[in-house]
Amino acid sequence: MKTIGLIGGMSWESTVTYYRMINEGIKARLGGLHSAKLCLYSVDFDEIERLQHLGDWDSTAEILSRAASGLETAGADFLVICTNTMHKVAPQIEQSIDIPLLHIADATAEKVISKGIESVGLLGTKFTMEQEFYKGRLESKYGLKVYIPDRSDREIVHNVIYNQLCLGKIEEESRDQYLRIIEKLAAEGAEAVILGCTEIALLVGQDQTPVTLFDTTRLHVESAVDLALEMK
Ligand code: GLU
Repeated sequence: MKTIGLIGGMSWESTVTYYRMINEGIKARLGGLHSAKLCLYSVDFDEIERLQHLGDWDSTAEILSRAASGLETAGADFLVICTNTMHKVAPQIEQSIDIPLLHIADATAEKVISKGIESVGLLGTKFTMEQEFYKGRLESKYGLKVYIPDRSDREIVHNVIYNQLCLGKIEEESRDQYLRIIEKLAAEGAEAVILGCTEIALLVGQDQTPVTLFDTTRLHVESAVDLALEMK
């Protein structure tokens, strides 16, 4: 079994889910007392979030690159960044290490495409919904048509992530808003919706909407488990 290197803490609410799901995945495959070999480097999200909103992505890249090389030194065979948004600096992080990075958008898009889906809605932080590193990657690398919410709904989705989900607050009213936005994206033509923030599945689940959902946390974990067991 390979050792997984996790960069977490963004937020720790979803890193907990990664840790649990990775271990559940290894146990489901190998049985008994098997558990994942992994190293976790967890950052202070307050520091990262401030830099994000100042637009100082170079400083975030430095912090996460240091984390990545620490994980490589600790024996990680490949790297998993436990957030969609911070894949914005994935190229800089990759340059600082000699082990592969398992990109969350690739893990997700491969699953979407395998289901024959050609158009998706995308929910996440404003950075993820609006910028080239994520929305653009889905479009240019995978040929997906990507629908995002309108400006005021993007504001709602973004604020709920930072002001509630990353603080462990789950509010009924926010769930209703998310479900409304998901169904609006489907009505506009999206065949499915990508939950492109690792905390969103803490708020909404497949049992709450007829729209097909792709949870990036789950798909990223499944790819990591496959890779750890050398099945891909
Ligand atoms: N975990 C979230 C994501 O998947 C947002 C937190 C962050 O800005 O990293 O994008």
